Amino acid sequence: MKEFKEKILKDGIALNEEVLKVDSFVNHGVDPELMQKIGKHFADKYKDKGITKVITIESSGISPSIFTALYLGVDLIVLRKSPTRVLSDNIIQTTIVSFTKGVEFQLTMNKDYITKDDKVLIIDDFLAKGEAATGAIRLIERQGAKVVAIGILIEKSFQQGSQMLKDLGYEVYSLARIKRLKQGSIEFEE
Ligand code: 5GP
Repeated sequence: MKEFKEKILKDGIALNEEVLKVDSFVNHGVDPELMQKIGKHFADKYKDKGITKVITIESSGISPSIFTALYLGVDLIVLRKSPTRVLSDNIIQTTIVSFTKGVEFQLTMNKDYITKDDKVLIIDDFLAKGEAATGAIRLIERQGAKVVAIGILIEKSFQQGSQMLKDLGYEVYSLARIKRLKQGSIEFEE
């Protein structure tokens, strides 16, 4: 997606060879018009695939995926990174390791919201080693539902997540694929 890549080049900051900071428009400050366009882009791509639910992981996946769900006319389910006092019954969990924090946490879903008949589009902000996406897939498939595709805003192709998911047979569709990061420089795949 050309506009998104231009925004990344303009406002993204490569902190080092591993981490891209997009705090001003994705992770902290959120550009609502851009998120709406991104959400619509995913919805247009998957509108004929019979998607019944969009699933994301709190918190940065929420803003683009809410638009995707809106344009597809389906519900959005947000996987939580820890149970809360209100989200404590009827839950299933799986352990994943946070890329940015380096700590384990329990990815949590309420069983009532996904059933075996669901066809799911997963949306997340980044794909690095694939921990978040594979955790979401485990929870969705534990319910007997089908993962149709994984939509990613920024894929860091030099980390193993994307290839691993493709090797497992999942469709990964990324709006921006980064080949290399160096402090102060961002290089996209062709
Ligand atoms: P993975 O689980 O694929 O290893 O990492 C994906 C998750 O880690 C995303 O949900 C995102 O929150 C975070 N993440 C991974 N790489 C980056 C990065 O370069 N920048 C930021 N801001 N978040 C990242």
